[in-house]
Order: sequence, then C-alpha cells, then structure tokens
Amino acid sequence: MDVRNCKLCNSLFNYDGNSLCPACRKKMDDKFLEVRQYIYDNPTASMTVVAEENDVPIQQIKRWIREERLSFSKDSGISIECEKCGKPILTGRYCTECRNNMTHSLNKLYASAAPVKKDKKSESAKMRFLGN
Ligand SMILES: [Zn+2]
Ligand SMILES: [Zn+2]
Repeated sequence: MDVRNCKLCNSLFNYDGNSLCPACRKKMDDKFLEVRQYIYDNPTASMTVVAEENDVPIQQIKRWIREERLSFSKDSGISIECEKCGKPILTGRYCTECRNNMTHSLNKLYASAAPVKKDKKSESAKMRFLGN
C-alpha cells in the first residue's frame, strides 16, 4: 500500500493519485464552493483578494482555473497564462488558438493512424478471396 503525507495537513493517508488526504480534499471541495460563490458575488475581485478573503492559496485558485472548475469574468481582469504560448486566458490550460492547433494535430494523428485503412484493406482482400 502506498502511503503518503498529505500536502496540506501532512498526515499520512493511503495514496490514491491525489496529493491530499480525504479530509483535506473534502475541505478543499467546500472551499471551492465558497470561492465560486464569492466570485459570483464579487465578479470584479482580484485573484489576491479572492485568495485572502477565502483563505485559500492563489496556487489553488489557479489550479481550479486550469481544471476549468472556476472561471472569471472578463471584467475581473483575472487571467492565467496559456501553458503553450503564455497568452493570457480566462480558464483552462491553453488559449483557443493553441487548443485549435492541438486538435488539428490530433486529427492528423488519427488520420495517419493505420487501423481503419488496414481494416478496409483486409475487408477487400477477403471480398476478393470470396469472389475468386
Ligand atoms: Zn490532509
Ligand atoms: Zn496559447
């Protein structure tokens, strides 16, 4: 069993892919709802104010934004950087442009992947075989 220290309270817990123990995870979930409500009520609050008012680290707020659980309005002036080009974005990990580029290269990857073609080929080979 993989046992680790919780990043928040430092207590030991059975590691399951999360860096926080179940208790802290629950606490963070409650915190998340609090923060989301706060942002809803104060759409123009800065990230620092949100962090201070809700007693939650800025890093955690950014993580929620990256996970697309939180998003700020354009009016808030709050943004994080695109992980690829550094352009300011409001939510997620990449800007629209980078995301589009990635979808394109992903599609290309799928298009160049052989399985579909191969299936067709063996299918027609079979038909030819049957035809003969
Ligand atoms: Zn903990
Ligand atoms: Zn970008």
